[in-house]
Amino acid sequence: MPSVTLRYFCYGCLVTSATWSVLLYLYFFLGAEPSRNPAPHRGQPVGSDHKRAELSPEMGMIFNEADQEVRDAGYQRHAFNVLISNRLGFHRPLPDTRDPRCRQKAYPAALPAASVVICFFNEAPSALLRTVHSVLDRSPAHLLHEVILVDDHSELGTRRPATARPRPEELKDELDRYLRTELQDKVRLVRNRQREGLIRGRMIGAAHATGEVLVFLDSHCEVNEAWLQPLLAPVQADRRTVVCPVIDIISADTLAYFASPIVRGGFNWGLHFKWDPVPPAELSGPDGAAGPFRSPTMAGGLFAMDRKYFFELGQYDGGMDIWGGENLEISFRVSAEFHRVSLKAALTALCFQIWMCGGQLLIVPCSRVGHIFRKRRPYGSPGGQDTMAHNSLRLAHVWMDDFKERYLALRPELRNRGYGDISERVALRKRLQCRSFRWYLDTVYPEMQAVANGNKQPPPFANKGLRRPKVLQRGRLRNLATGRCLVAQGRVSQKGGAVVLRPCNHGDPEQDWSYDEDGQLVLAGLLCLDVSEVRTSDPPRLMKCHGSGGSQQWSLGKANRLYQVSVGQCLAVSHPAGPKGYVAMAICDGAEMQQWQLEG
Ligand code: UDP
Ligand code: MN
Repeated sequence: MPSVTLRYFCYGCLVTSATWSVLLYLYFFLGAEPSRNPAPHRGQPVGSDHKRAELSPEMGMIFNEADQEVRDAGYQRHAFNVLISNRLGFHRPLPDTRDPRCRQKAYPAALPAASVVICFFNEAPSALLRTVHSVLDRSPAHLLHEVILVDDHSELGTRRPATARPRPEELKDELDRYLRTELQDKVRLVRNRQREGLIRGRMIGAAHATGEVLVFLDSHCEVNEAWLQPLLAPVQADRRTVVCPVIDIISADTLAYFASPIVRGGFNWGLHFKWDPVPPAELSGPDGAAGPFRSPTMAGGLFAMDRKYFFELGQYDGGMDIWGGENLEISFRVSAEFHRVSLKAALTALCFQIWMCGGQLLIVPCSRVGHIFRKRRPYGSPGGQDTMAHNSLRLAHVWMDDFKERYLALRPELRNRGYGDISERVALRKRLQCRSFRWYLDTVYPEMQAVANGNKQPPPFANKGLRRPKVLQRGRLRNLATGRCLVAQGRVSQKGGAVVLRPCNHGDPEQDWSYDEDGQLVLAGLLCLDVSEVRTSDPPRLMKCHGSGGSQQWSLGKANRLYQVSVGQCLAVSHPAGPKGYVAMAICDGAEMQQWQLEG
């Protein structure tokens, strides 16, 4: 392995030959088909309190074409910045995003041990192994029974380099070897013979697990300080409690780690998950916002559940494919089962603060797990079907009674579409004696009805727009090689418009840039200078400011350069002699064409 590649591939982490083989195997052989499935992803909660890990802004610096290839191919295959992920290595410190009260909390010394199940398909190796190592690093050994990795038949890369290298089977063995030699024997790898999707994939992982509690994670997570105890304690206290951590945000563009706001799960009639504000009454316990609160639904793949209860409650719907809908299905099921208690029993339960016989879904803010939230899912389904629609139809027909009409009214094209045999799930619902969907809506998610009745729901993040990043500098942005200034090519308010160089004009408000603490460059107080995440070769554009860094995060300073944090390149004049004065992103080389001054 040439050392130059080594330097860029894995920055600052201990690299053994086994690691290399695994990384190579995963890098070359795990390709991803482009997304054919436009179903929306489960987005990150908005309104972060901006507590974040400050990575060096130059973590994503592109030095040569090889870096560029890693970054651009990484975006294509994985929809996040794989260059930075590789450089971070398998271990990194994270900011402790918990409420300070969490640090004082004591948990029982004896808690049930966890089987952590991580299902993956075509995952970027550095992200997968950082997930695994974060679990090993931050879980008390006696509480971690095992980690089960389920490889969901990850594919060979479609764009394999022509150079000779070991056969795939040998390389697959290397992953086993890495797990055996580099990781504790607690980590096991299960391989699916065919692509199953995350729903059946998790069921397969659960079938192999022997710990008392199942903890599911995605393959691009990093668990934070003391994450496990707060998940296990409520399960120990009541085995019918399903517990979710707060899902912190790992930026797909910069890999920076952000604290998430305290929000809970809901959904809309399109059967898409959404984040809602937590009703204040839920946070009125002794620990306030640091205490557990109930959530009508869960976001997806991050939760802990008593293993036997998982099976008693019917695992997942094995007729659901690839991705989507399973999070609402299990949420409805847990809650509905909870509601089969009689009113009297429920009242007694409430009075004594004991949930006597049902399930409940909690979010515990003292457990924090970071997740890379991508803007698109980088994979499709094997047949190219919209599995979200298929899965949602099953969910609606099994669990939603007449309320399925709400969904079908929004998706009339699905009315006559088949959704497979649901008889087993209907029988399960009967066996569990679950309550009606109306009961679920009235009791667990009354906010939904408020909308249906025409009452306006409070906006979830009313204060979102309030935080205005502090402006650090403002003025015209002058290029030192040409002496000209950066302006909008067309109208200054035109979203998506290009930027060009024109003669500087002191009094012109349309040449007024501000540079703020979030690294945003805002033109005329209107739009932000933005780059394409996918192709570094696209020129920068003016876009609506989104406030989440990444494609709009610039670092200004060092040698007058304007460095783009997510792209890892510098703003440069591409044709200084040309009449238009085009600008583009280029590898930072310190040349005058890449020097800029923000002058008042
Ligand atoms: N996954 C899988 N098989 C699939 C699709 C997804 O094993 O066919 C894995 C994926 O690698 C990830 C988890 O399931 O670890 C959840 O998928 P994803 O992160 O794409 O879902 P999102 O976070 O966007 O909801
Ligand atoms: Mn995910």
